[in-house]
Amino acid sequence: MGPVTAMMWFRRDLRLTDNPALLDAVTAGDGRVLGVFVLDPLLWGRSGDPRREHLAASLRALSEAMDGRLVVRQGDPASVIPAVAAEVEAASVHISADYAPYGQQRDEEVEAALKCPLVRTGSPYAIAPGRVLNQQGRSYLVFTPYYKAWLAHGWRQPVEAPAKVEWVTADGEKLPEGTADGAGEHAARERWHEYLDSVREYDDQRDRPDLDSTSRMSIPLKWGELHPRTMLADLARKRSDGAQAYARELAWREFCADLLARYPEAAWKPLRSEFEKMQYDEPGELFDAWREGRTGFPLVDAGMRQLAETGFMHNRVRMVVASFLVKDLHVHWKYGARWFMQSLYDGDLASNSLNWQWVAGCGADAAPYFRIFNPVGQGLKFDPRGDYVRRWVPELRGLEGKAAHEPWKHGGADGYPDQVVDHGEARRESLRRYEAIR
Ligand code: FAD
Repeated sequence: MGPVTAMMWFRRDLRLTDNPALLDAVTAGDGRVLGVFVLDPLLWGRSGDPRREHLAASLRALSEAMDGRLVVRQGDPASVIPAVAAEVEAASVHISADYAPYGQQRDEEVEAALKCPLVRTGSPYAIAPGRVLNQQGRSYLVFTPYYKAWLAHGWRQPVEAPAKVEWVTADGEKLPEGTADGAGEHAARERWHEYLDSVREYDDQRDRPDLDSTSRMSIPLKWGELHPRTMLADLARKRSDGAQAYARELAWREFCADLLARYPEAAWKPLRSEFEKMQYDEPGELFDAWREGRTGFPLVDAGMRQLAETGFMHNRVRMVVASFLVKDLHVHWKYGARWFMQSLYDGDLASNSLNWQWVAGCGADAAPYFRIFNPVGQGLKFDPRGDYVRRWVPELRGLEGKAAHEPWKHGGADGYPDQVVDHGEARRESLRRYEAIR
């Protein structure tokens, strides 16, 4: 009998370190592993340019770390993976489990078509969805008890990269165009270590878009360039309030994934069924004004322009623009969620849909519907010097300090649009529509 080969099918785990599925593949293949990534036209088609760009760069970085031996194939994984496995006579195919609706179904199809076992080891989370349960063995619908149980459950320590791998090759296609700059596990680790030096301030500063003090780790987390367990191990050594607050945010990410794994329809449908009857307006000109950052509300416009220009938006501002779309413009959250998925570098179905649902009041543990963000008040509070809105909305640069949040009180700003709605009236209309479904 010739040497055995194991296959490592990379998906949202584009790294070699702290990758238990890869370690399993190395053990199963006695060191001989074929690493493959499938460019699935369905997922590629759904992604916007930022996500495609980052994926292309990350695949390049991964391939470089594998001596250029990452095999990339294009097509439906249900036919591609069994075909590659047959070509190299793989004894097993290794993956880290995917809990998103499409991924779960895809993996079942691949498993059914394979002639060798599909072995699932680990997940993109510190604790896999479905594992954090209450005393009755049920999952949580509310974050705070989930978070306490998540902490009590604990997670494994990170594992090292395999000491030695003989990367087996097979025919593949060219990697998608792009450079590896700023992507990949090495870049992610550098970014993370740099950020850790300031994590003690996270607690106080994380809501301030003007300070730009959050980690931007959502992008490497999306692609698994770094595992959250690695980050949690580093945070545990820090012991500051900031480090604890940061770990809590990672728990939000896991809570979203846990909810989506249980309720796959939550991707586009409200978790609270009474919201099925909520009256929304069709997305029209007001929706375009929102997407293009022309609403006349400085914080909303700054956020939407930051998104368009950089593929990123600060969390506080994401909440404000989302609330504005749903509760001031009365447009269904699914349109906003779709726009975010197309525009964000970190677009992630679970975190995106569940956060939209939270803001729209229809999620499991949502903000009460009647607590409607005042977009101007939020700007004055969280961007107190007006620096964030001036950075993204050049028309406001002639206004000093917090005046940039209320140009209409300070003689206006050249070229800046008037408010597209009256917030007070829009708020009352929202509450009226909410009363109708209660
Ligand atoms: P940091 O403040 O540095 O947080 C650290 C990490 O914690 C983040 O990288 C992220 O992984 C996690 N995290 C923080 N806040 C949340 C949260 N509310 N929910 C889930 N995880 C969180 N996050 C995405 O990763 N992808 C999305 O598509 C996405 N869409 C969103 C849509 C809306 C309407 C809202 C309100 C939030 C959304 N978020 C999403 C959550 C959050 O805004 C981003 O994770 C965060 O802004 C990323 O920036 P950061 O890495 O600098 O965050």
